[in-house]
Amino acid sequence: MNTIFNFFNQNHQNIQSGIFVAVFLVCWFLEYYVSDSSFFPKKKHVLNNFLFSLSGAVIQVLVSVVFLKIILFENANNIGLIPYLNFKSGYLNILFAFIFLDFTYWLYHFLMHKIPVLWRFHSVHHSDSHLNVSTSLREHPFETMIRLGHYVLAVSFLGPALWIISLHQFIQIISKIIIHADLRLPEKTDRILSFLVLTPNMHQVHHHYVRPYTDSNYGDLFSIWDRMFKTFYTLKKEELKFGLDQYPESVQQPEAWYKMLVRPFINSNFK
Ligand SMILES: [Zn+2]
Ligand SMILES: [Zn+2]
Repeated sequence: MNTIFNFFNQNHQNIQSGIFVAVFLVCWFLEYYVSDSSFFPKKKHVLNNFLFSLSGAVIQVLVSVVFLKIILFENANNIGLIPYLNFKSGYLNILFAFIFLDFTYWLYHFLMHKIPVLWRFHSVHHSDSHLNVSTSLREHPFETMIRLGHYVLAVSFLGPALWIISLHQFIQIISKIIIHADLRLPEKTDRILSFLVLTPNMHQVHHHYVRPYTDSNYGDLFSIWDRMFKTFYTLKKEELKFGLDQYPESVQQPEAWYKMLVRPFINSNFK
């Protein structure tokens, strides 16, 4: 346990950046060999999605400064639900933190779909008509602020050790890239894994262009909440069509980054 603690406590920022690049590149090359959507202008598509990571990085750095201060203060003063519950085992701390944060993410994601003004921003992620690793970067800056805001609140309430948060973010990043990759698990493997965890096949259903499939599989790491709240859906590969029925224009050509930035403020179709 101490080894994991030291590993994530001392290097979490470098580890996260390194792992993100490594997993991104591995999935990128796998997509290159496996994907059959070569007719789509991938470079243009990736560039437009990649530009979101610039605004995302600035917001992430600003929020991280505040976030780190809160967590270190809480850790030093034993503040939060986890210190209050005082589990005897470090593993129970991890398990409780992961389950708690996974549920708050499910709830956050559900609300992003159900509240019209929030959906305007989240729909930018969903309007991608070609799912690949770059879709994991496609998030409107307003949504980045809301997502990180919800995370700071949830973690502040919980009060876990800093290294548990680093471990959670590390797994979250890997999962986010993998579930957006233009890859699919064999149906049988998917059926077994999706009993507990989110799979690329599950998240592809979430990116299907029409409801109720768009409003399904909200999970982050675990599939349990979707199964519990009856939002778990499956579709076969040949039934999938990515994008949004509210925005069919992006199907033929990748949408420009600046247009996606302003769209939530001017387009009233996204309800
Ligand atoms: Zn969504
Ligand atoms: Zn997605």
